[in-house]
Amino acid sequence: MAINDGDVQRRTDNPGSQSALRQDNQQRVLAALVSAGPSSQAELSRHTGLSTATISNIVRELAERGLVSTSPSTSSGRRALSVRLSSNGAIAVGVSFSRSHLRLVVTSPDYSVLAEECVDFAPQTPVTEAVDVAAALLPDLCRRHGLADAALLGVGVAVPAPVDRNAGAVLEGSAVPDWAGVRATDLEDRFRSAVYIDNDADLGALAEITWGTHGGAKHLVFVTVSGGIGAGLILGGAPYRGNIGITGEIGHLPVGDPELLCRCGRAGCLETVASTRSMIDLLRPVTGAATSTDDIIGAAQRGEAATLGVVERAGRAIGHALAIVTILVNPGVLVIGGPLVPLGEILLAPIRQSLAAHSIERVTRSTELVFSELGDRGHALGAASLVLQQPGIPLLRW
Ligand SMILES: [Zn+2]
Repeated sequence: MAINDGDVQRRTDNPGSQSALRQDNQQRVLAALVSAGPSSQAELSRHTGLSTATISNIVRELAERGLVSTSPSTSSGRRALSVRLSSNGAIAVGVSFSRSHLRLVVTSPDYSVLAEECVDFAPQTPVTEAVDVAAALLPDLCRRHGLADAALLGVGVAVPAPVDRNAGAVLEGSAVPDWAGVRATDLEDRFRSAVYIDNDADLGALAEITWGTHGGAKHLVFVTVSGGIGAGLILGGAPYRGNIGITGEIGHLPVGDPELLCRCGRAGCLETVASTRSMIDLLRPVTGAATSTDDIIGAAQRGEAATLGVVERAGRAIGHALAIVTILVNPGVLVIGGPLVPLGEILLAPIRQSLAAHSIERVTRSTELVFSELGDRGHALGAASLVLQQPGIPLLRW
């Protein structure tokens, strides 16, 4: 790493000294910038518990050493200073896979995107083939953007499936069944790099607090509505992993159509009416033709009645599921992501109404409900964050 001046090794033997305290505080600020991405000085104060005056001094010292850079910004309408880690020539890669496309982002430790590409493929494409496409795309994309000589810290992979994080393996229960059994180590040969793998909704949540506009959010739930539906939870400022790592499987809450069978084998799950796959199935008898997610968006925006009916029903079911989530965890922010975001109020209004109807008023009133501003990029960006936040990544050896 270019940025490794050995300060940590030179730490004083006297842990109570002013110098040791200053170095501890500097490490806290650097760690906060790794975990939360670019932040204002006020946000750094909240993240670290240090006073704004102390943060201001530390940021100036770190900037003089070239470890962080600052730029003017605004926070809550007031002038503020945005602080970000300096790029140190290293790159972290995020790849997200869905049923029909993959997205690959090449990022730097200062949380900026250096290169990005999305590739569509047929929905039945085997996972091994999709991985081959991504593995071939990475060196090609780096070469085209002059990044071929950069140090690759690792590849984060977002999959539409539950993941056993201890084993680094994909579990059964995916909307794309042949992901089951795939291990991070299987992918390391293909990418010639360390690979970290996680559930796409969990990484979408991580992206919201690192890349998105919710950097200060302590309690945030991110819901991805796609071929499957899942939620990622940020509780107390950190991803919530649960007991065995499977959390937020709200696609299987029983708020759908009790007459319809879900892919999990039970009837009535949320996904029976609100996954994009179910919406396409429900519209096929009406349209008489194969429909895509883009077709749903186009028809709804044109005011086509049957499509509006299916979207509204999906929105009401999603709102019902979110009401259960809000009653359980009282999040400050609910973020909806996935390919249906362009529907805007057509989808958001029934979600909002149903959430209000099924939750507790004081909870609903204090919960912000928004679409993700990261669009379809959240899963891949979160996968890159996963790499940047790995303990022991050279990035942290300042
Ligand atoms: Zn189900």
